[in-house]
Amino acid sequence: MSGRTHARACPERTCVGCRERAAKGDLLRIVMIEGACAPDPRGTLPGRGASVHPTLVCLDLAVRRRAFPRAFKVQGPLDTAELRRYVEGAAEAGRIEQ
Ligand SMILES: [Zn+2]
Repeated sequence: MSGRTHARACPERTCVGCRERAAKGDLLRIVMIEGACAPDPRGTLPGRGASVHPTLVCLDLAVRRRAFPRAFKVQGPLDTAELRRYVEGAAEAGRIEQ
């Protein structure tokens, strides 16, 4: 028994919005910076992170479920305005297919 049975090729995370598992690369990492949720698309910011699909649907679900305060283990709501703007921009960019 080697104890190395888990393949590391395709790491998965759970979206805090829809609660579905997805490949790490398909989810947007979120970190908390001074009481606000901030996007971390490159996954380089330090600290605890939460993962969510970069869509308004999953973002709204996460906000409604208070998933971000829970993920970051803090009390009270977090500012998601900057995160929302980022997701809106990402959604628009993804829709440009000509
Ligand atoms: Zn999702």
